Amino acid sequence: MGFVVQTTRFARFPLGHFPTPLEPMERLASVLSRKYRRVPNLWIKRDDCTGLATGGNKTRKLEFLVGEALEQGADTLITQGATQSNHARQTAAAAARAGLECRLLLEQRQIRDEEYERSGNVLLDELLGAQIVDRLPAGTDMAAAMDSLADDLRAEGRKPYVIPGGGSNPVGALGYVECAAELDAAPVPVDWVVHATGSTGTQAGLVAGLRAVHSPALVLGVSVRQPEQKQVDAVYTLAARTGELLGAEVLRDDVLVDDRWVGDGYGVPTEAMTDAMSLLATTEGILLDPVYSGKGFAGLLGAIADERFDETDNVVFVHTGGVAGLFGYRSTFQ
Ligand SMILES: *Cc1c(COP(=O)(O)O)cnc(C)c1O
Repeated sequence: MGFVVQTTRFARFPLGHFPTPLEPMERLASVLSRKYRRVPNLWIKRDDCTGLATGGNKTRKLEFLVGEALEQGADTLITQGATQSNHARQTAAAAARAGLECRLLLEQRQIRDEEYERSGNVLLDELLGAQIVDRLPAGTDMAAAMDSLADDLRAEGRKPYVIPGGGSNPVGALGYVECAAELDAAPVPVDWVVHATGSTGTQAGLVAGLRAVHSPALVLGVSVRQPEQKQVDAVYTLAARTGELLGAEVLRDDVLVDDRWVGDGYGVPTEAMTDAMSLLATTEGILLDPVYSGKGFAGLLGAIADERFDETDNVVFVHTGGVAGLFGYRSTFQ
């Protein structure tokens, strides 16, 4: 503790309620200790309570991204994501708060039912005033599609600012450098941080931020989309670039990923996910989501079952949000 991270020189637009609460999960721990031999001290970092239109992890990234957009004089945010993208919904809300327009491109990574296509985050995107410009088939080059949309808007005299999927670039990852600083200032020494990892900005920011404050905490990312080595490479690349912004060196060994909880693919429900979601809901009254935090929490339970943690460790699960997406998955739960 005591090292300060250098994020203050970056433009920032306030969007969330920070620091987010860090709460103990004692009822969960007592239930788990009937089943497993070695249960650590369990904590939950409530990034589902960031406060922006049902919250979630993208709020932290968007504070820096929208800050940069405003600094550049942009009038429109463009971003992309899967149909039930939490990032798209939080970007829509951030745009509303900043007085910007928001244009979304949604990728149909999987075809589900009417609720998946229309409810949950999609309903909120529209309520928040974003325009869903197009729904593109799975496998589309979404970055290229955003660039061409940006060209069209420029031709109309607008000033677009393009945010990559998940808000995951070094500027966005600064949001999780801030979270690392909050964890470092926690009343207990944090030994492990566990969370769902997708577009990589969350883990990259945490890893770079913890390095910057010289914290010994280890970060375990539970992959929701791709095999371990691919995800480690992607997280490491972004963490190293984020570290450069802070003057902190990140090592490849700092990036730990568990890919055993993906199941059949991104956004495809698994039994471990639904079990994990019911366990947390019924022991702590906390809701997770089926695409990210539910699989991330399944990964946490798996690591406890594997006795990866010591009994005296303080293990923090970062709840990255996503509950709005639950309503796109009713048929999975009922
Ligand atoms: C985007 C998202 C994640 C993954 O964060 P990345 O920075 O994309 O790796 C985790 N949980 C939820 C709910 C998300 O929306």
